[in-house]
Amino acid sequence: MSPTLNTDKTLINFENKDTILVSYSMRGEELVVNEALKVRALPEGSYDKLLEFLRLYRDAVQIVVDRIWGIDEKLSWKKLHRLFYSDLISMSFRAHHAKEIYINAKNLMESARGNGGRKPVLRKLSARIDKYDYKLDLDNMTLTLKLHNDYEARLKLIASRERIEKFRSWSNYELVVKYEEGVFWVSIYFKRAVRPLEPRTVMAIDLNFGNVTLAVYTLDGRRVRLKRFNTPHKKILTHKIWIERIQRKYPKSWRFIKGVRKAIERHGKRIKNISWDYAHKTGNTIAKLALKHNSVIILEDLEKLRENNKKDKEFNKKLGLWFYRRIQFCVEYEAGERDLEVVKVNPRGTSSKCPRCGGRLVGDGYRVLRCRKCGFIGDRDVTATINIYKKYVSKHSRCGVSGVAPNAPKPDENPSGMQGNKNEAMTTES
Ligand SMILES: [Zn+2]
Repeated sequence: MSPTLNTDKTLINFENKDTILVSYSMRGEELVVNEALKVRALPEGSYDKLLEFLRLYRDAVQIVVDRIWGIDEKLSWKKLHRLFYSDLISMSFRAHHAKEIYINAKNLMESARGNGGRKPVLRKLSARIDKYDYKLDLDNMTLTLKLHNDYEARLKLIASRERIEKFRSWSNYELVVKYEEGVFWVSIYFKRAVRPLEPRTVMAIDLNFGNVTLAVYTLDGRRVRLKRFNTPHKKILTHKIWIERIQRKYPKSWRFIKGVRKAIERHGKRIKNISWDYAHKTGNTIAKLALKHNSVIILEDLEKLRENNKKDKEFNKKLGLWFYRRIQFCVEYEAGERDLEVVKVNPRGTSSKCPRCGGRLVGDGYRVLRCRKCGFIGDRDVTATINIYKKYVSKHSRCGVSGVAPNAPKPDENPSGMQGNKNEAMTTES
């Protein structure tokens, strides 16, 4: 429903187990989640024909690449079809094979040119296959591929029931077959439309160097939940400092001495694990809470964050936007799994504007902000969540949101409810 939703494709090593390509896209008003499931596949019987097909396919893509490499004009589907369709059919491909082959070639050429690279030379055996040319049977875990000359190849998919289960209600539309070092792999592309429930509450999330703060507001501005998670920033920084220390000690040679490089890699790996682990847990907890409160989840738009340079420079230097991105990715992923809506708002001013009068806030001691104009005093992170909530409400008043400001803490209210080590500082305001 909002154009600010993430449409990036993100390739990650999800849950450290399988490579899954996840992307979100808008189809009209609907959010569509795409995911690829990569599994090993075992051909039943001889796999000569399948290998023959993969080689033929690779060579055909190469032929098309060779022929379009010198062409500078824009190549439409129509033109590609006219140029190559009948040739490919005469090479014994099926109609949709032909389409996949010239589109594949075009994409390869464009990305090679985009990188200023040379004409691609294909070596790997990999074929993209349209839904018209395969039959997937998740009950029996088999896949039937339609090959050249109308040959068929049947493959057994090697994956646990649990991994497959979730995709039963999804539709699949394409797959990629690969042959690598004697093993066949299949990546199946699934998609599913997310139809968000009409939210009853708004969950505003503020990301910071040291913590993630979430607050749930009713549509008329009452805060019903407040929660803070500490980030593992200290642990991450410790490993970063180690890396920098080693690099300073061996400024020129660290790349080339195996032991030194390995030590750096070890710290890098720890950072990766700690941050993903945290992002998964936090994303999961946030989505569970949002489901419980039937919330729409509001995040700050990271791209705009960079432009605005809102957060302290120290954060950007020490931890970097990648850490925010990772957390947001997991929040969006887990929210999508539960059919919850995520909306991003511009973070401009969320930690510097008074939520009551719009005046400028100044620091007033540890984590506390004060408005010189109206005397508002509030915890820094809680104030940010109020502003994030207000931004959402002012833009999305369609669902009966009256646009009433949340009852901001009164000037004399002690914001220390959010301080100390208490991670959960739940308050229910009357
Ligand atoms: Zn004020």
